[in-house]
Amino acid sequence: MTAMILDGRAIGAEIKAELRIDIEKYQSERGRPPGLSIVRIGGDTASGVYSKAILRIAEEIGIKARLDQFPTRISPDELRSIILQLNDDERIQGIIVQMPLPGHLPQKLVADLISTSKDIDGISPRSAGNLFLGLPSFLPATVAAVMEILERFQVTLEGKRAVIISRSNVVGKPLAMMLLQKNATITVCHSHTVDVAAFTREADVLIAAAGRVNMITADMVHPGAIVIDVGINQLPEGGIVGDVDFPHVNKVAGAITPTPGGVGPLTNILLLKQCVHAAWLQAQGKDRMFGKVSIS
Ligand code: NAP
Repeated sequence: MTAMILDGRAIGAEIKAELRIDIEKYQSERGRPPGLSIVRIGGDTASGVYSKAILRIAEEIGIKARLDQFPTRISPDELRSIILQLNDDERIQGIIVQMPLPGHLPQKLVADLISTSKDIDGISPRSAGNLFLGLPSFLPATVAAVMEILERFQVTLEGKRAVIISRSNVVGKPLAMMLLQKNATITVCHSHTVDVAAFTREADVLIAAAGRVNMITADMVHPGAIVIDVGINQLPEGGIVGDVDFPHVNKVAGAITPTPGGVGPLTNILLLKQCVHAAWLQAQGKDRMFGKVSIS
C-alpha cells in the first residue's frame, strides 16, 4: 500500500482560484487591486528567480505587484527611507524584502522597520512575538504553506504527536507555535538532538525541514504517519529532492508530500494569500491588531 499524496500543485490551483474571486471583490469595493512591493537590492540570482515567480503568480491572480530594484551600494539610511516610504504608501498593502541583503545592510534593519500590518512574510520581531503570544500575525510563507496543507487535507492535529526537524526562525520555531495553537504535542529536533529517529518514530505528524537529502528513511516513520517534507535540496547531478526518502517512506506513511510538488509550489501562493488578507485588514482598519506602528 502506498501513502496518500498531499499534492501541493492541486491545492495551489484551488487557492489561486479562491484568491481571484477575493481580489475581484476587493477591487470592486476599493477601486483598485491589492498592491505588493518586492524590494530587491543587488543582483543575487536566486532572489531574481524568486521575484519573477512571485510577480508571475501575482499577475495571474490580479494583485498589482511591482519589483522595486535598488543597487547593491545603497546605504543603510537609504534602505531605511525606502522601507518607511513603503510603510506609508497607500497603494502598497504587502512588502517583501528579498534576502540575502548585501553584507553592509543588516537584515535586522528591515525586520525592525517593516510595518507589521504589511509584513506578509512574517519577518519582523513583532510578527514573531504576536505568533508566540497566539495573537493575529502573518506567518513565514513556508509555515503558512505547511498549515494550509494540513488544513486542506483535514489532518487532525488535536492531541497528536507532531515532530519537527528544524528550529530555524523561518520554519521550525514558527511551525511549533502554530501546531501548539492547534493542540498538538510538539517535539522540536535539531542538529544536537541525540537519536532523532527515536522521536520521529513516535510522530503522528512528522515535518522535516533540515535541508538534508534522504535524512528521513522508512524505518524512522511510524506506519500511517503524516509526513510533510519542507526540505529543498539541489542534487549535484541536477534535480531537486527533499529531506524524505520518498520512494521508501511512501510505502510506510499514511500521507506524504512529494518533492518537488509538495510544500514548494505553495509557498509563494501563501505569501500572496497573506498579501490579500493584509489588504482586507487595512481596508477595514483592522490591521491595528497586528501593531501597525513601525519604528522610525
Ligand atoms: P536552516 O536555517 O539551515 O535550518 C535547518 C534546521 O535543521 C536547523 O534547525 C538545524 O539544526 C536542523 N538540522 C540540520 N541538520 C540536522 C540533523 N542532521 N538532524 C536534526 N536537525 C538538523 O534552514 P532553513 O532555511 O530553515 O531551510 C531548511 C530546508 O527547508 C532547506 O532545505 C530549505 O531549502 C528548505 N526550505 C523550503 C522552503 C519551501 O518553500 N518548501 C522554504 C524555506 C526553506 P541547528 O539549529 O542545530 O543547526
